[in-house]
Amino acid sequence: MAGIYLHIPFCTQKCHYCNFFSLASKKNTAAFVSAICNEIVLQKDYLQNEIISTIYFGGGTPSLLNNSDLKNIFENVFSTFKIEENAEITLEANPDDLKIDKIKELSDSPINRLSIGIQSFFDDDLQFLNRSHSSNQASEAIFNAHKQGLSNISIDLIYGIPTLTDKKWKENIKIAIDSGVQHISAYSLTVEANTAFDLFIKKGRIKAPEEEQAARQFEILMDTMNNQGFIHYEISNFCKEGFFSRHNSNYWKQQKYLGLGPSAHSFDLDSRQWNVANLQQYIQSINAGNIPFEKEILTASQKYNEYIMTGLRTIWGVNLKEVKLKFGEEFLSYLNKNSQKYIADKTMELKENALILTEKGKFLADGIASDLFID
Ligand code: SF4
Repeated sequence: MAGIYLHIPFCTQKCHYCNFFSLASKKNTAAFVSAICNEIVLQKDYLQNEIISTIYFGGGTPSLLNNSDLKNIFENVFSTFKIEENAEITLEANPDDLKIDKIKELSDSPINRLSIGIQSFFDDDLQFLNRSHSSNQASEAIFNAHKQGLSNISIDLIYGIPTLTDKKWKENIKIAIDSGVQHISAYSLTVEANTAFDLFIKKGRIKAPEEEQAARQFEILMDTMNNQGFIHYEISNFCKEGFFSRHNSNYWKQQKYLGLGPSAHSFDLDSRQWNVANLQQYIQSINAGNIPFEKEILTASQKYNEYIMTGLRTIWGVNLKEVKLKFGEEFLSYLNKNSQKYIADKTMELKENALILTEKGKFLADGIASDLFID
C-alpha cells in the first residue's frame, strides 16, 4: 500500500496560526499545475510500481483549483501510476469554496472524500484565526456536500483558542456531530514560529494559548466523542466505524508515500525527502527537468523513534512483535524496560502484545513518546 500527496500551495488569505507552505494568492496557478503534472512524470519510479491506495490533495487550499486543473492533474496521475480500484481520494477544501456548483464538479471527479477546514462554527473564533469563511458558510458547506451525495466527509476543528469558551467548544462539537459527518479531526491551537500569532504574542497584542484550557477542551472532546460512538483512533482524529482516514493511517503505519508539489515530503521506508518550499524555484526547476529536493537517509534509531512517535498516538499502539521484526532484539528490550513505568502509572497498557496509551496517557502522548526514543 502506498499513497500520493499533492501539495496545492494557494490560499485566499493567510490564517494567523498557519505555518504550512502556502501563498495568499492564486497568481501562477497555471504554471504550477503544469509543473506538478511534469513532476508526476519525473517521479514515476519513486514508488517502484506499487499500487496506490490513497491520493490526498492538501495545501494550501486545493478547493481553489478549477475543474480543468484538477482534471489535468488526475489524467497525469492515472496514466503514470497504478491506482487501486477503490482508492481513497481526498481533497482538502475551505467552506467558502464549497458552493453547490463546485461540489457538483467535485462529485463528478474521482474525489470520494472531502476534508473541510471548518475550525469553528462561531464567527468570532473564525475572525480571530483569520479564516476566510463565516460560520454560515461552514454549515452550508457540509449541508451542500451531503445534498450532493458525498458520504465520506471529514471536518477539522481547533480548540484552545483564547476566544473559545468551554461552552462554545461543547457547542462546536455538538454541531459537528449533528451535521452527520463521518470523521472529525480536532487540533489544539499551537503557536508556531514566524506565524502572525507568534508576532502578535511577542508584541503583546494577544495572549498566548493556555495549556490548561487546551487540556480541559481535549477532555471534553474525548468524553463527548466516545459517548457519541466515534472511534478515537488517533490523538487528534475520530471517526465512525469504517471511516478511518486511510491516507493518514498509512503515514502512521509507516507506509511509503510520494509527495508532489513545493514543500511536499516523500518517504520510501529508508529515506525521507522534501521539495523546496518556494513556488518560483519549484516551477523553474521542474520545468528544467530537475526535482528540487533535499534528502535524509534515516538511521535505525530515527526509524524506531518515528515508529514510536506515530504508533503511540494511534488506537493500534506500538506492536512489540513488529518492533522486534523491524528493529531487532536490542531495541525491543530497550522499549520493554523503559515502558514499565508508564504501565505502572496506568498511562499505558499492554494489550495483545501492543503498547497502547490509556485515556490518561493520551494527555501526555508526546512526552511519553520522546522518553521512549533512542538517541
Ligand atoms: S487555509 Fe490552511 S493552508 Fe491556507 S493559510 Fe489557512 S491554515 Fe494555512
